[in-house]
Amino acid sequence: MQRFSVKSIAEMKRREFISKAALSGLALGFAPSLVPDLLAKSASSHLSDTGTASPVSEAGFKGGKMVMNFYPYELTLRHTFTVSSFSRNTTPTVQLTIDYEGFTGHGEASLPPYLGYTVEGTLAFLRKVNLEQFESPFLLEDIMTYLDTIDAGESPAKAAIDIALHDLIGQLLGQPVYRLYGLNPQKAPSTSFTIGIDTPEVVREKTLECAGKFNVLKIKVGRSTDKEMVETIRSVTDLPLVVDANQGWTDREQALDMLFWLNERGVKMAEQPMPKEQIDDIAWLTERAPMPVIADESCQRLSDIKCLKGVYSGINIKLMKCTGLREAYKMMVYARAEGMKVMIGCMTETSCAVTAAASLSPLVDFADLDGNLLISNDLYEGVQLRNGKLRLPHRPGLGLIPVH
Ligand code: MG
Repeated sequence: MQRFSVKSIAEMKRREFISKAALSGLALGFAPSLVPDLLAKSASSHLSDTGTASPVSEAGFKGGKMVMNFYPYELTLRHTFTVSSFSRNTTPTVQLTIDYEGFTGHGEASLPPYLGYTVEGTLAFLRKVNLEQFESPFLLEDIMTYLDTIDAGESPAKAAIDIALHDLIGQLLGQPVYRLYGLNPQKAPSTSFTIGIDTPEVVREKTLECAGKFNVLKIKVGRSTDKEMVETIRSVTDLPLVVDANQGWTDREQALDMLFWLNERGVKMAEQPMPKEQIDDIAWLTERAPMPVIADESCQRLSDIKCLKGVYSGINIKLMKCTGLREAYKMMVYARAEGMKVMIGCMTETSCAVTAAASLSPLVDFADLDGNLLISNDLYEGVQLRNGKLRLPHRPGLGLIPVH
């Protein structure tokens, strides 16, 4: 017969209570920020009967201390990554964990050089963070506000903490992260997959390989070989395409001609066609374009959106730009309220950050979450693909399973 100590029975009761209270809150459609209040209020009365669990404060459930650890980890790319301005074979990241009450939340900061953040800067920021001052990971809003007071930048480091906190909260509540936001995993969309710039032979080969696995292909444009690249892909598949110029076009008339040419070849969306500084030219282009024009480099955080309305059709949200899921969700709500389209993208990342982004994907028009598929040293099994669609793990938190 299995024997339990008084302490372990108290622990089991407390976790059972957390799970039940959270479920009742989520069933009523409470936002994640409200769940801790529910827990605190309900817990006070419930736990006073037992007198055995950890204390509960006005601010939320109070357990032990949150302990954060982090280390640099370099991602190896399966193929050389080339966009209009550079090529590379690796992506630096910082992997992070937050331990709390016997659970471990996982997070990640991806640091592709063009973002302008470094491993050193990320580590230095994380060393300044003191999570022990917060009673529990449920104080997500307070914690994210605090992080912005340490440094206005360092978004990937903040995203790493936000992702780990979401993973932790989901595990504590026994629910997957998408459910914390009231989202239907059946509505997770197809992700696009990027066909890298290469010789026509290689592009043809890669396209044939991808055409059976994905429903949308993405092409990086902004080079003199763009039309050849598109024609090559079109010679082997009629799948819908999206394009990303990464600010590569500077003449608006030529950009518009190109968008019409692409539209005739089944291109459904264009991302960041011109340099972000050319605001008037982009607004002119968006007004005339035969497809949605989406801001990527122009859109970092929530506060950017007000300036993008009327300039772009929509925004590409990436957790590494916007400090994580908490702000990404707010951006989605704001952009929708302004009648703008919403896209979610990623960097080259492990399945940790990609699964986090995919958790919000039921809310978007376009998903570009192929970053984990581009690396050969992933650390986790997380979001999967089924017939080209994102399939979210149903396990608590991010539902990650370590593979190394
Ligand atoms: Mg882009």
